Amino acid sequence: MSAGLLAGRSAVVTGAAQGIGFEIARLLREHGAAVLLADLDGDRAAAAAAELGGEALGTACDVTDEADMDALAAKAVAELGGLDVFVNNAGITRDASLKKMTVDDFDAVVTVHLRGTWLGVRAASAVMRERKSGSIVNISSLSGKSGNPGQTNYSAAKAGIVGLTKAAAKEVAHHGVRVNAVQPGLIRTPMTEAMPPEVFAEREAAVPMRRAGEPREVAGAVVFLASDLASYMTGAVLEVGGGRLM
Ligand code: NDP
Repeated sequence: MSAGLLAGRSAVVTGAAQGIGFEIARLLREHGAAVLLADLDGDRAAAAAAELGGEALGTACDVTDEADMDALAAKAVAELGGLDVFVNNAGITRDASLKKMTVDDFDAVVTVHLRGTWLGVRAASAVMRERKSGSIVNISSLSGKSGNPGQTNYSAAKAGIVGLTKAAAKEVAHHGVRVNAVQPGLIRTPMTEAMPPEVFAEREAAVPMRRAGEPREVAGAVVFLASDLASYMTGAVLEVGGGRLM
């Protein structure tokens, strides 16, 4: 694929074996980027990459692991020829009320989202600043804007990603590196399919557009931020929520 918004660019997406991450990888490919799909399970990441075909590779990577994340950025440079786009997408939920949530539930969610995103931003920006160019996109959530009951861990982590995005954006802007975030609302993925159907329906009814979003609709905002169309945007937070919580 030679034409496209991202022709000749190399991109990494974490948590890309399924859901939003997979659709981000797919849309990056459709716009011409070579893509490295990273996920906990390397076989699933490789299978997802094979589905995209062409310049797509899959690899095992735990975003909470410092060595894995540094190796991921290095692998993009070695095997894709560079690192122009890095999407911190991997995520988990461990929902429970404050009464029932354990310290392990809290730590697991904060570690994957906050430490994982921080490690990704650090590894990617180290490569990009040398090349004086690059775009990092972090996946936050509207849960981090509004707070969702049962998600004190997740809302805290997703709000933290906004602060991290803005601080990093200020630090690396003069090196030609942009750092932005996307806040999806209710999106139909394996993560939300695990919700009780009545909770999903209640949340869907609260969306002004009266439907949940599709992963590809989140991917559109990510590709925009990754591309030169967003060349004067950094530290921004784009909401993709069908009008929810505007
Ligand atoms: P999914 O659960 O469908 O996919 C997440 C992927 O991340 C899975 O493949 C998962 O692997 C992987 N993953 C989990 N932990 C790690 C880790 N430590 N290292 C590497 N990969 C990991 O989630 P979604 O596609 O729904 O969510 C993607 C992102 O979007 C997340 O950050 C989520 O918080 C955010 N988001 C989602 C919304 C939604 O409505 N779906 C709304 C707002 C934000 P495994 O399956 O093996 O655990």
